Amino acid sequence: MRSFTHFTIQYAHRFYGFKGEAQYLHGHTGGLTIEVEDSVNPGVNMVFPCNEIKKTAWNIIQNFDHALILRQDDPLLPAVLGVYEKQGIKNGAPQNTMKGPAFKTELAEAYPDCRLVVTKETMTVEGMIKMVYDLLKDKLNVVKITFTSGDNAATQEFPSRHTMERCPCCGILLNADGVCPKCGCRKK
Ligand SMILES: [Zn+2]
Ligand SMILES: [Zn+2]
Repeated sequence: MRSFTHFTIQYAHRFYGFKGEAQYLHGHTGGLTIEVEDSVNPGVNMVFPCNEIKKTAWNIIQNFDHALILRQDDPLLPAVLGVYEKQGIKNGAPQNTMKGPAFKTELAEAYPDCRLVVTKETMTVEGMIKMVYDLLKDKLNVVKITFTSGDNAATQEFPSRHTMERCPCCGILLNADGVCPKCGCRKK
């Protein structure tokens, strides 16, 4: 069975080099749905507690929220960073607290201190799905990601791996030592 969770994220981006309105900087409310598959955990009668999917994913995904997402070759990138630098907010501001840990993958690099994500490919809905899977695949048994933004929407299924051990009491992922980070239960 599957458990799934949904987020909304606000972001600004543009399609650099695209011949259309989207080549101009603009913003969206995006809807991200993440589906996790496993057997139903007998102790808790859930696949995976949705608030735990949310917590695990949001830790990373919040770096996309209220962020500017630009492709690495976009000339807006040095221009924006130059303004932030001059203004003294490039390396953070006291009010910028909604930050996850910085990440760097093949597809995307987050700079949470200035709410910027630099991407390898244009940040389309398809591009977002690829980035999110790459960021979460080792943390959750993600089998489907759906992302919607304005009239654009995409969905992708991924093979189930079923390799992640869950706590028999609360259903969340055990740590590397086989201990539940929430209730301290050990693998039976
Ligand atoms: Zn757009
Ligand atoms: Zn537990």
